[in-house]
Amino acid sequence: MNKETDTTADVRNVVIVGSGVAGLSAAVYAARADLEPLVLEGPEPGGQLTLTTDVENYLGFPEGVGGMELIQNGKDQAERFGAEFTHGTVENTMLAERPFELELSNGDTLQTRALIVASGASARWVGAENEDELMGYGLSTCATCDGAFHRGDDVLVIGGGDSAMEEALFLAKFADNVTIVHRREELRASEIMADRARDNETIEFRWNTELEAIHGSQEAGVTSATLVSHPDGYPAEKAATGVDVDRETVDVGGVFYAIGHTPNTEFLEGTAVDRDESGYLRTRTDDAGRATTETAVEGVFAAGDVADPHYQQAVTAAGTGSMAALDAEAHLETLERTEEAAFEIPL
Ligand code: NAP
Repeated sequence: MNKETDTTADVRNVVIVGSGVAGLSAAVYAARADLEPLVLEGPEPGGQLTLTTDVENYLGFPEGVGGMELIQNGKDQAERFGAEFTHGTVENTMLAERPFELELSNGDTLQTRALIVASGASARWVGAENEDELMGYGLSTCATCDGAFHRGDDVLVIGGGDSAMEEALFLAKFADNVTIVHRREELRASEIMADRARDNETIEFRWNTELEAIHGSQEAGVTSATLVSHPDGYPAEKAATGVDVDRETVDVGGVFYAIGHTPNTEFLEGTAVDRDESGYLRTRTDDAGRATTETAVEGVFAAGDVADPHYQQAVTAAGTGSMAALDAEAHLETLERTEEAAFEIPL
């Protein structure tokens, strides 16, 4: 339950942007430290775990745990210690002066002494013809959400990582046939996930193949897709430079994208927070050379997938969430000491 919160009234100690596993873990730690954190739940409340069925590799659940259940438990846990939740999407961030100021899309403004960015990452799109028109009409980035609409269909899953395997395995419960379309002939997925997909009779693979166009309409849904292939892989790139590729249109009732994610960091544009070429936040090492969660702006911390192009696991997101809260707590203590010292009257 969200508390009725006047989010705009005071200067907050900590605002946490994002309510996925990283944001929730930060909220639990910050709330237990009596920092009364405010958690902003953005356009995808609960983050990517809410789109996952079973989480089998989160420590402490020998039988696995539902993604939604894990998130709801995390939220309950954070609220139990006094964290407040409110819906809000940050549009602009002013970090040049203190306290920091956040402008939300509903026009509200928030002020905070410390900021934890745990805004995660969103599914990437392939760039195939007609994807704008058909997204949500047979084209999807979430098998858990839309798989059940495809009972008896033939469907495509685009990608070769763990997400693609997971999506294909889930879709295999409903669809007649699931084809994983991968741009080269070696999977990026972990062995265990790749083996499960290979062992599933409903799943097959199209190697060295990419999606060029999706056909259908918002009324009829997806009806077919055009694939390009080349024996040396990366066919779309080759086709764009004039190399001959094989082209085939296949009848399918659904297409699922699973080609990775883009970090949600646009709202930090124009600030001094440092990002890499893909938009992931960069965090600093301390004077002793140890990793911290602090960004290039003192008092702004990053946790979870938004700063992690590599591991992107629920358990690592929870870990960096707790680190960000501890770092924020230490920062606030330093701020307090500095402010107290400034008020001391010299003898
Ligand atoms: P990923 O590991 O980055 O894989 C993305 C896949 O999409 C790659 O195979 C990539 O091909 C392909 N791809 C990228 N851009 C493409 C394009 N424009 N057109 C066609 N194909 C494209 O992303 P992910 O699968 O979402 O996984 C992200 C992280 O989450 C990983 O650390 C993964 O282990 C983790 N994860 C774990 C689980 C689990 O354990 N149950 C489930 C989901 C995700 P290339 O291989 O050629 O680059």
